Amino acid sequence: MNIIVPKHSGFCHGVKRSVKEAYALAGKGNAFMYGEVVHNPVVMANLMKCGISPIQDLTDVTNDSGKNPKLLIRAHGVPVSVLEEAAKRGIEIIDMTCHHVKKIHAIVANASARGMDVIVCGTHGHPEVQGHLSRVKTQVVTVQDLDEARRIIPGLTFSKEGVCLVAQTTHNKRTYEEVRAFLAKECANIPFLEPFDTICGATAHRQDEIRELAKTADACIIVGGRNSSNVTKLYEIAREYCARTQHIESADQLDYGLFRGAETVVIAGGASTPDESVREVVRKTEGLSGE
Ligand code: SF4
Repeated sequence: MNIIVPKHSGFCHGVKRSVKEAYALAGKGNAFMYGEVVHNPVVMANLMKCGISPIQDLTDVTNDSGKNPKLLIRAHGVPVSVLEEAAKRGIEIIDMTCHHVKKIHAIVANASARGMDVIVCGTHGHPEVQGHLSRVKTQVVTVQDLDEARRIIPGLTFSKEGVCLVAQTTHNKRTYEEVRAFLAKECANIPFLEPFDTICGATAHRQDEIRELAKTADACIIVGGRNSSNVTKLYEIAREYCARTQHIESADQLDYGLFRGAETVVIAGGASTPDESVREVVRKTEGLSGE
């Protein structure tokens, strides 16, 4: 069996940086993460063992050790209200928001300040998307895909200053291109569209590579958290080209039946998947294929 691990697989630089900081804070006490620092159950369980916990609400920040509490902001950022509330409560912010996400914050805030409305192409309720929405004072709409854009956008009235369009950093590239083309060509109610390429390089490279590899693979295994946007997108893309595709969180979920008799198997991790999780799946697949 030929096992291929894509060149672009595993932690991106933004996630690496925030996980490293989370481990550094874990040893110091009285430190918290706002939500999961990375959508990966293996990493989260490890961090909690090391003494740093995720919180969903700032009222959960305690000051047991007498030291000033610290709050780590994950790579995909937070809504403005979280930063304001933390400042009021005297919580020190360790901001690990990825620069690609910060760039979108600046784009939408700037467009809104110029009177433009904003459309965010992304997953409803995703924390990164919530962060973008919170920075817009004018009308802001989220659309997940072309079907939703077709359903919602033609019925809205937009600012005469126009509409700024951005994508969540980890969204499906093709979906974004479809939405962008629809808004530009078929929506006469948008007086002027200003689109930005905001899907980050780490996401784009991983998606392009898995698309090419899945076309010729007999089976694909995508490793990473089920609640991870970038991992789910990789799975959806691979599944489009390779029917024998499985999404697993760790090696113990491998379905041997899936790759029985396969000559070429692609094993890929998302931007939120530790390299070690991918290596473990590779080891187990090699072992099983020899049985
Ligand atoms: S997936 Fe992209 S935006 Fe998100 S942390 Fe990684 S590099 Fe930054």
